[in-house]
Formats: sequence, C-alpha cells, structure tokens
Amino acid sequence: MVSQPYSLTIQLPRPSDEVRGWLRAGLLIAPAIAAIVHPGLNQRADDVLAKGELHVALPAVRLFGKQVIPSKTLFYQASPLVGSSIPTGVSTGLSDEPVKVGMTVAGYPVTSNFGPRTAPCAGCSSDHKGVDLGTPTGTPLKAFVAGTKVSCWWDGGGGGQVASIWIGPEFYQALHLSSCRNGTYGPGEVYARTGNTGRGNGAHLHWEQKIGGSKVQPKKGVLEATLTGAPPAGFDPSPYLGNAGGKDLAQFVANFEGFRECPYLDPVGVATIGYGTTRYPDGRAVKMGDPCITEAQAAEYKQGDLAKFNAIAKGAIARPMTPSQETAWTSFLYNVGPAGAQSTAVQRFNAGDIEGAAEALKQWDKGKVNGQMKTLPGLVNRRAEEAELLKQ
Ligand SMILES: [Zn+2]
Repeated sequence: MVSQPYSLTIQLPRPSDEVRGWLRAGLLIAPAIAAIVHPGLNQRADDVLAKGELHVALPAVRLFGKQVIPSKTLFYQASPLVGSSIPTGVSTGLSDEPVKVGMTVAGYPVTSNFGPRTAPCAGCSSDHKGVDLGTPTGTPLKAFVAGTKVSCWWDGGGGGQVASIWIGPEFYQALHLSSCRNGTYGPGEVYARTGNTGRGNGAHLHWEQKIGGSKVQPKKGVLEATLTGAPPAGFDPSPYLGNAGGKDLAQFVANFEGFRECPYLDPVGVATIGYGTTRYPDGRAVKMGDPCITEAQAAEYKQGDLAKFNAIAKGAIARPMTPSQETAWTSFLYNVGPAGAQSTAVQRFNAGDIEGAAEALKQWDKGKVNGQMKTLPGLVNRRAEEAELLKQ
C-alpha cells in the first residue's frame, strides 16, 4: 500500500499567536506520530517558526492503484506562492534602500517599519509585514512598467480594499485603499488610490512585497516609482519585462484557468468552480448545483490549490528546479491532478532528460468530449507553454 516517499513542503502564513500555540502543541506530539507514520517529521517547533516552513515527508498511500493525497488540512495552512525577485546583481536603476521610518518616499513620510512593533491600534499587527506611508486619502498608485497587472479584492481580515500588483516577476500588495481597478496598466496609469479602509488609525498606505509567498522588507525604488509613475532617469525596465525571475506561478496559471462563478463540468467531465478548483479548502469535491462563489473566494481557493500542487511538484521532482521549471510542473499538476506526478514526463525530467520530458508533457492534451478522447486546443497551448518553461 505504501510506495516511495512523498515529500510535502508547507509554507506557513505569518503565524498568529493562536497558530504559534497550535504549532508548538502539534510539534510536541508530532514526533510520536511521525515515528509511526514516517520518520520525516524531524524539525523543532522553533526552527519551523523561524523559517515559516514545515517540511514533512509522508509515504505516498495508494488505494486500488490511486494515490491518496495526505492531509488536506495541512495543505491549506499554506500561504500563496506568489512572487519571485529580480536576481541579485541585475540592476534596474531603482533604489534598493530598505524603506524605514525617518525616510520620505515621493514626499510622504514612512510611519511604520517592517518587522516587530507595538500594535498601533486594537487588532493592528504587532509583527508588521509591510511598511506604512502617511498618504492622504486619494493619493494615486501608478504603473511604471508596461504590463503591470492589478487584481483588486477585499480583505475582511483588516486590510480593507487591497490591490495585488504584479510588476514583471515581482509581487506587491497595497492595503487600506479607497479605490482600485482590475486590469493591466502601462507607465503613468493610475490603478488605485490610497485610503483608510479596513483596520488602522487614519489614512495611510500599507505596502508589502512577497517573494515565494513570504513577505519581505520592501525597497524604496519600486514604492517611489509607484507613487510618481515616473521612475528616475537611467531606469532600465528590461528585467521586469523579460523572464528574469521565472514566470509568476499565479499569473501563469490564471492565464489558462478562466474565472467561473458557478459549478461547471470541465473538459473531462469533472465538476469545477472558480479558477479550475475541483475541491473546496475543506476537501469536499465540487458538485454541480453547489452555490456560486465570488471572484475573491475563487482567488482564495486558487492560492490554496497552487500551494497544494506546488508541494506535490516539489515532492515529485527529484532534482533542483529553476523557477520556470517549478512553475511548469505546478501548472501541469494543477491541471491534470496528482496522477501527473507519476507521468513519463516527470520520470524523464528526474533522469535529466529535459527534452524528452517536454515531449512527454505534450501528450497530456486530450479530454473526453461526448465519450470520445479528443485533442483539446486549450490543453495543446498550455502544454506548449509549460514545455517551453521546462527549458528555461
Ligand atoms: Zn501597515
């Protein structure tokens, strides 16, 4: 029943005190469970908290020839795996200076640092995963690179109106906005305005950056260019326009998975909702006739699914991956399901045969239409793009 080890990487969100307590308790009893299940759980609670990651190697359990995915609950502790960075040493001409109190950015004072702080309001965070800027309501946020993508959503957890912003391979979020418009923007175009929505004490901009799902100390240059819409002379946008940091996973998958608010049958007859979600975060399969969902809910499900399939990809691939290769495998598994982890494509890749893997990947382009297996153009395109990423 048990085949080769199944490696699972869980990227934990910024743990709240409650989650920290839960983790400590869980990791005290975990070694006992791990000794029974698998000796893979071997990290101390403090290591896990320091790194924000929990690596668990579980055996792959197969029932009647089908791989059963372990612990859905654990997967959904994962934070969105979005954002990569422009490689160090590649200069865009923007300031790399960390944003700190005492500094002004585009004329606005920095009012709160990144990192631990005394919570400035009831319910405000004491571990500040972004920086605050004293911007009056209505201050415009602007694109400064062609192809800047903006996705607006409401954060009931205190962020108010939020803009998720992809600038090339980099991912940023602006919180507490007064307005936000979804879309793709070019230099100088306004996509949002700062405000005072959600939790806080007064109008300000909370600005944060994520790399690989973790929030990092934001740098001055990008924030300044976002507020002015006009980067300084000598700015080189090419690292943002190329594939310098690998394709952004969420963006890549979103290009292929259109949003549908009500359940529908996918090309192979599986009930699907949102952005290609087939199971809700609690593990229940989507059924035709389930209630429709909002785009924000769908985006949340998608991030959970991405984290889940990213973990499966990392478990299936037994050699170092470039960011592009990681995106390709995650997109592939997101689309075909965990069975893809056993595919010839994965086996060839693990054996070092990248060309052969790309060819084998392209075979997964068929779906059942009226009971007949047919080549589907959408899948042909997706496989071609994934195969291309395997070579980057
Ligand atoms: Zn803040």
